[in-house]
Amino acid sequence: MRWSESCIPTLKEDPREAEIPSHKLMLRAGLIKKLTAGVYTFLPLGFKVLKKIENIIREEMDSAGCQEVLMPVMHPIEIYEESGRIKSFGPELFKLHDSRNRLFALGPTHEEVITRIAREDMQSYRDLPQSIYQILIKFRDEIRPRYGVIRAREFIMKDAYSFHADDKSLDGTYRKMESAYRNIIERCGLEYRIVEAESGYIGGNESHEFMVLAENGEDEILSCGCGYSVNLEKASAALSADVKGEGTLEAMEEVSTPGASTVAEVSDFLEVKSSGIVKTLLYRAGDRDIAVLIPGDREINDIKLSALFEGEDIRFLEPDEIEDATGGPQGFSGPVGLNDQIEIIADRLLEGFGSMIVGANRADTHIINAVAGRDFEVDRYEYLAMAREGDQCPNCDSRLSVNKGIEVGHIFKLGTKYSSAMDATFLDSDGKGKHFIMGCYGFGVSRMIAAAIEQNYDRAGIIWPREITPLNVIILPVNSKDRELMDAAEKLESELLEMGMEILIDDRDLSPGVKFKDSELIGIPLRITVGNKLREGKVEILYRESMEVIEVPLEEASAVVKKYYSD
Ligand code: ATP
Ligand code: MG
Repeated sequence: MRWSESCIPTLKEDPREAEIPSHKLMLRAGLIKKLTAGVYTFLPLGFKVLKKIENIIREEMDSAGCQEVLMPVMHPIEIYEESGRIKSFGPELFKLHDSRNRLFALGPTHEEVITRIAREDMQSYRDLPQSIYQILIKFRDEIRPRYGVIRAREFIMKDAYSFHADDKSLDGTYRKMESAYRNIIERCGLEYRIVEAESGYIGGNESHEFMVLAENGEDEILSCGCGYSVNLEKASAALSADVKGEGTLEAMEEVSTPGASTVAEVSDFLEVKSSGIVKTLLYRAGDRDIAVLIPGDREINDIKLSALFEGEDIRFLEPDEIEDATGGPQGFSGPVGLNDQIEIIADRLLEGFGSMIVGANRADTHIINAVAGRDFEVDRYEYLAMAREGDQCPNCDSRLSVNKGIEVGHIFKLGTKYSSAMDATFLDSDGKGKHFIMGCYGFGVSRMIAAAIEQNYDRAGIIWPREITPLNVIILPVNSKDRELMDAAEKLESELLEMGMEILIDDRDLSPGVKFKDSELIGIPLRITVGNKLREGKVEILYRESMEVIEVPLEEASAVVKKYYSD
């Protein structure tokens, strides 16, 4: 491949629209080109990386016994009415009309399409289990497309679906997929964690996310040296038993806290730790009022709270509603003497907490030494506080630490969610019709490129892991008008091509400085510079990752390349 004949439009400056390194570098290295918000072309170098990742995925899926298919992108809207997902997708579903005014959706994922196929074509338990996958473009009208291909509106996904007669069979396939996903990410040379995850709107009962670790990841992961990892949203705040509230178990007492309503103000005023103060948050869930108690130094996990009131609308009470419900102003609410109609839900961290400092439901007043069970009743204890760094690992004695990550894959046990909704059944060995038990397994192919870059770059540009580099070697003749240099470059190229390497010759008529910079930006693992040293029969090889340079005789260059790629 000759650079002068290739579409590799590198940029010197960071584009203003890009916030994180992978997005900046993908644009600067000419891997992608934006058409409109969240919609990108993969230019030749970007496309090569995409294909390499696809091939790794394909090999791993095939060896996990999964069959490749290609499903349509255009879906009649009725299938989403059948599954009930037209509502849960909401505005994320792209819609279009045909010339007869029939409504279609552009596929955001394919559970509906594949469940239809199973309903019609998998009749008996003898046809099961089956696993099917595809690599296809998906459409989602993301509210905030950002970070380039990380959150795009049109992106490439590998999606797989499995159909089973029983849970045991599903579990077997689920474990195979888990190990295939591990292999894919490891082969791409990336560090990652597998975390227990919420299954979001796809639904189901067991799900794991595969997170490539990256400082700029949108997801937060809590993990422990023992191997336990969990998505922060799913984690339960837990502490070792020695944590207690502030104060004593003497009789409770009202204290004046003039003007101190926030946790920070009360903790300053009373000279106590904020963890000893208990926040009382008042909500309306459906048509009832509830009070949630959590330690003053914690935030509430909204996802867990909503999950407690599944299907009901839940919101904070307005200041005047707080006055009506508690008799006191906002900022001074507490559980003592609350109206019986208000359910009191306390975070599990408060079980065995001893005495608490709480609001007195009166302006400028708090109560110290309030004890649950003695001074007020807790209706139930639930996990509601956000977990954080330093919390106790649920599986061992260690403390959890926080990492950020980019979700590249997600596997779900769907159970009969879609087969029931769409009434897809098979005839079981006992002669009865049963709903298929299903699993689904998504992998963000295009997102993976950005994730790989987030883990592998420096100030000069991208540093490709060797398995997914767009090309193996860039040959850089310092002067492309010099016939001797070009002849040597081409000779080297043909040797390397014979070894099955993919080569780019930078034959552009530009200064060596510009060419060096560009080569470092696009991040190909090895650069061979053909320059003045050729008079002594030598070329220079740069290892992009370490930036180490060695000089070798021209004839030995291809052996160095071979060694690098076979190590
Ligand atoms: P997210 O929480 O990031 O929105 P999701 O839960 O919606 O992801 P899934 O529906 O599980 O994602 O899709 C499977 C995989 O597809 C994800 O793990 C991710 O790698 C990729 N993916 C999802 N949405 C996008 C997007 N907008 N752009 C690029 N890749 C995406
Ligand atoms: Mg999403």
